[in-house]
Amino acid sequence: MRSSLVVTGAFTAVMGLLFYILELPFVFEWSLPFMLAGLFFLLIGVFAKESVGHVEPPPGYSFCVFCGTALLIGTKKCDKCGGRQPV
Ligand SMILES: [Zn+2]
Repeated sequence: MRSSLVVTGAFTAVMGLLFYILELPFVFEWSLPFMLAGLFFLLIGVFAKESVGHVEPPPGYSFCVFCGTALLIGTKKCDKCGGRQPV
């Protein structure tokens, strides 16, 4: 079970239900899609595996603090976004 996906799905479904109950113009049209999408994510969340830990960069590399590209340790500027790396 992926708890974050279950919570997101439940929240979206409840929001759809709220849209349905309030019967506001325009917003009401989105109540059914929100409920269906919420239930869909909730079901996927129940069967999906829980994600494990955080992602480690390959040895000798670090991630760019701005865009997350793997950079050689000691690189001053990112090749992809041009961001200056903190020392
Ligand atoms: Zn970058």
